[in-house]
Amino acid sequence: MITSTSDPQPADFADVRATNLAVVLRFVREHAPCSRADIAASTGLNKATVSSLVADLIDRRLVRETGLTENRVGRPATMLVLDGSPYAAIGVEINVDYVTAVAVDLSGERLLSWRRSFQGPDVTVSQAMAVVAGLVRRVTTRMAREERQVLGLTVAVPGLVGTDGVVRVAPNLGWRDADLCGDLTKALRDPGFPVQVDNDANLAALAEHRFGPWAGTADLVYLTGGIGVGAGVILDGRLRRGGRGYGGEIGHIQLDPLGAECRCGRRGCLEAVAGIGAVLEHAALSPAEVEVELEETVRLARAGDAHTLAVLAGVGRDLGRGVSMIANLLNPEVVVLGGYYVPLAPWLLPEIEAETRGRVIAPDAGGCRVVASALGYGAAALGGAARVLDLVDSGRLPRIS
Ligand SMILES: [Zn+2]
Repeated sequence: MITSTSDPQPADFADVRATNLAVVLRFVREHAPCSRADIAASTGLNKATVSSLVADLIDRRLVRETGLTENRVGRPATMLVLDGSPYAAIGVEINVDYVTAVAVDLSGERLLSWRRSFQGPDVTVSQAMAVVAGLVRRVTTRMAREERQVLGLTVAVPGLVGTDGVVRVAPNLGWRDADLCGDLTKALRDPGFPVQVDNDANLAALAEHRFGPWAGTADLVYLTGGIGVGAGVILDGRLRRGGRGYGGEIGHIQLDPLGAECRCGRRGCLEAVAGIGAVLEHAALSPAEVEVELEETVRLARAGDAHTLAVLAGVGRDLGRGVSMIANLLNPEVVVLGGYYVPLAPWLLPEIEAETRGRVIAPDAGGCRVVASALGYGAAALGGAARVLDLVDSGRLPRIS
């Protein structure tokens, strides 16, 4: 039977071994196909230790031998690649107008990707939780049918999430102090895998950092382009949440003291003047059916409609002011625009770039590039799955007992 080790390991030999197993697993993920000798040479672990660790990883079906050999001076070597076929990591995103579920295997291969519309502001927390629990049950049933063990679930929420998994405030959903993690664990009847809740921008940044075209970039900021706007900040290769986990709320930086009212109760916040709701409002389109209206906006922009182009230019300039603050403060290598900003990127990016060139004090905007996400609407859910895989990378390995 396969079970998951969720308890903290004692700080002794077992701890050292778990750390070394994780080191080898990460090496194989990054360098596969590779040999045991490659692992020993690069990690500094001795060959006997590497052989024992690899045998353990093969037992757990995290790594497998390909049977291929590489011709080198000396003996041919058996090559290793990630296995992970018996495992799945699940990510779910709750947004204002949709819910997404994604499952990936250990190597990040997409196993399923489901999306359904959802009227977030019209439902209570418990109704939303019932929707998510139902969706997760369908995913776990599918994974069980494929004989995969679920390694964990992370739920992305557009709001402030404490380190305890409690959603402190999600203005666009109307949530306050919702113990989503605790309630969901109960609703799933203690599913036997870890359940985590995190901010959507944080998770989307993790997805970009692990799976996107800019994967591995040490300093990367992701901007969500939903009804709300949030930033996920990766510095020195690590997600930065701030002291209590509430950092990255770029959407509530005030750009205009006399600007439109924000759902947070303040005025002229970035998301109130440059969020997708503002785009549609200025274009006199209904924010109720965002995707349909967005297609119409793209069509009008392509056709050269002057009003639409002016609206997008204005939003691009406001976004550019926000990106300039990020660039002046953090000097990221890349800022990734996600969500609904992606289809609008051809019209937003030139304005954002012009604004950042003018407002960032460092030459060439500090080398900061602004790009559109290639991960689509599922980025935050994919990041939820990435966070589960990060747990495995950090040494919380599934165990065959
Ligand atoms: Zn606000």
